[in-house]
Amino acid sequence: MSHGAGPFAIRGGHGHPGLIHRFLDHLPFEATDPIVSLQEGSTPLVLAERISERVGTEVLLKIEGANPTGSFKDRGMCCAVTAAKREGAETVICASTGNTAASAAAYAARGGLRCAVLVPDGKIAAGKLAQALMHGARVIALRGNFDEALELVRELTKAHPIALVNSVNRYRLEGQKTAAMELVEELGTLDALCIPVGNAGNITAYWKGFGEVGQAPRMLGFQAEGAAPLVLGHRVEAPETVASAIRIGNPARWEEAMSAMTQSAGAIEAVTDEEILDAYRFLAAHEGVFCEPASAASVAGLLKYGAPDARRVACVLTGHGLKDPQTAMEQSGSVVPCEPQLAAVEAAVLG
Ligand SMILES: *Cc1c(COP(=O)(O)O)cnc(C)c1O
Repeated sequence: MSHGAGPFAIRGGHGHPGLIHRFLDHLPFEATDPIVSLQEGSTPLVLAERISERVGTEVLLKIEGANPTGSFKDRGMCCAVTAAKREGAETVICASTGNTAASAAAYAARGGLRCAVLVPDGKIAAGKLAQALMHGARVIALRGNFDEALELVRELTKAHPIALVNSVNRYRLEGQKTAAMELVEELGTLDALCIPVGNAGNITAYWKGFGEVGQAPRMLGFQAEGAAPLVLGHRVEAPETVASAIRIGNPARWEEAMSAMTQSAGAIEAVTDEEILDAYRFLAAHEGVFCEPASAASVAGLLKYGAPDARRVACVLTGHGLKDPQTAMEQSGSVVPCEPQLAAVEAAVLG
């Protein structure tokens, strides 16, 4: 195993390999490429007993928040940044609702590249902003929404030798398809996949990954009601939802998402913010799994629409709950104040 040139290159034996090494046969890379990895992928797949009971079928959770920066974006980003580095780019850029920025910043830091991110001003979760800043990205707060940010970075990269690492970049999808391959490795088959849909890169990537290993589960995509262009059949000019990671009104992978849906006999449906937050709290309180609001859209959709005929369903939990501490605090109980005396502690604990 090679982690690129350099005197400290690791040669095997250090934990699980990153996904480029693990899936080298399925990816457009060579072991001799300057691979930029944080040992992403190989995320947990856990049985959700309480949700299985509620749905009446076996439901598994793919915990993508266990990736190095806390979201599935790392799968795509290790590939996009490796490709950028191989092509000699010095700078990467993306528009982001937060997680792409955090991931791009981390992988750019790892690969010794500069990174700039355009995020909608005031609309990204605190954890994601902290990550992008800590990893040394230039964070540009656009007075506009994600769709405008993506439009602008696409224009910018036409005129400058800067690598665009949004999911319009094909290497992003290549990396993200490996999550589908992990599911098939572990389960053999599954009947349906529930997944939140924003820019629609991830649903496109999963469908590609399943296809490459000869599987075709129903693709059940879920959008937030206030940001549901694929459900409505037209762009949403001012998308709004508590699930900031999927607050997108004009998905870049629109056509691909729709064909994944039709080819798999799946569906793309909307869930309300209330349904998203119900699933978000339920997952944390009854499954012990803390994901971010956008991720809970997959479970919210499954609870709302069911998965007809499916015996085994996987829900993708795209990002970690710690990404968005503010929503968590607003959605949970308050702390119990207490004086430092045994009686008071007793009352507080037992009360
Ligand atoms: C990016 C993201 C999504 C949406 O993925 P798309 O590829 O844009 O459809 C969902 N959840 C989280 C946590 C994300 O970061």
